[in-house]
Order: sequence, then C-alpha cells, then structure tokens
Amino acid sequence: MIRKGKRMTKQRRVILETLRRTKSHPTADWIYKEAKKELPDLSLGTVYRNLNKLKEEGEILELSFGSTFSRYDGNPENHYHFLCLQCDRMYDVDLPLQDNLEKLVEKELGCRVTSHRMEFYGKCGECLGNTKNTMP
Ligand code: ZN
Ligand code: MN
Repeated sequence: MIRKGKRMTKQRRVILETLRRTKSHPTADWIYKEAKKELPDLSLGTVYRNLNKLKEEGEILELSFGSTFSRYDGNPENHYHFLCLQCDRMYDVDLPLQDNLEKLVEKELGCRVTSHRMEFYGKCGECLGNTKNTMP
C-alpha cells in the first residue's frame, strides 16, 4: 500500500510538472503523451484521476468552455483567456481582474459575488497574419 501511494505521488508530481512546463493549455490526452515519456506505465485513466485530484486541491484549473473536451491550466490563479476559433489555441490574457464588474453585478442583483470567469473568442494575431509584437 505504501509503495502504491508513493507511486501515485510520483505520477501526480510528473503530471503537474508536465502541465506547468507548457503555456498551451493542453488536453488530458496531450498531458498523457508527454508524461508517458517519463512514466512508461502511465494510463490515460490515471492521468484523468490525477488531474481531477489536482483540480480539487486547487493546484490546476480545468477549462471546459467552448470545447467538447477539457483543457488544463497549471496556473490556478483566476485569469482570463482568449480562444482562437481558427487555430484552437488558447492564450492567457494578462489583464488585471475586472473587479468592477463584480460590483456592477452586485448592484444589479443585490447579491454578493465571490468570483467570476471571463473568456474571449475570436481570431488570434498569428491567424490574422500579424507579425510578432503587433497583436490587434
Ligand atoms: Zn489562431
Ligand atoms: Mn491560463
């Protein structure tokens, strides 16, 4: 049992490290293929189980919008995303959280807002043919 527990811990660590090495917001399948290079015995089910656990522990984010399968983010802090509808790439949006929107919703509904999510959709700079450093 102890040995099994230790192996689980190592799997979880490798899965987390694999996810944190990339900024691409990958799918479980991508994480599985990458982590398998380090853990040849790894199964996709194990990857899903560990991703769920990491999500519960607040180590990662599961991003499930606009897609039939989830994508994962090694940065658990609330931040915004832009999804390119042409190339399906997901970008971080480095804007401060718009807390004023929460105030507006609270005023509108007389409620208490504790968090919010925001996603942007469109065509990314690369798909628009822009050269580096000239995002639209
Ligand atoms: Zn694109
Ligand atoms: Mn992100």
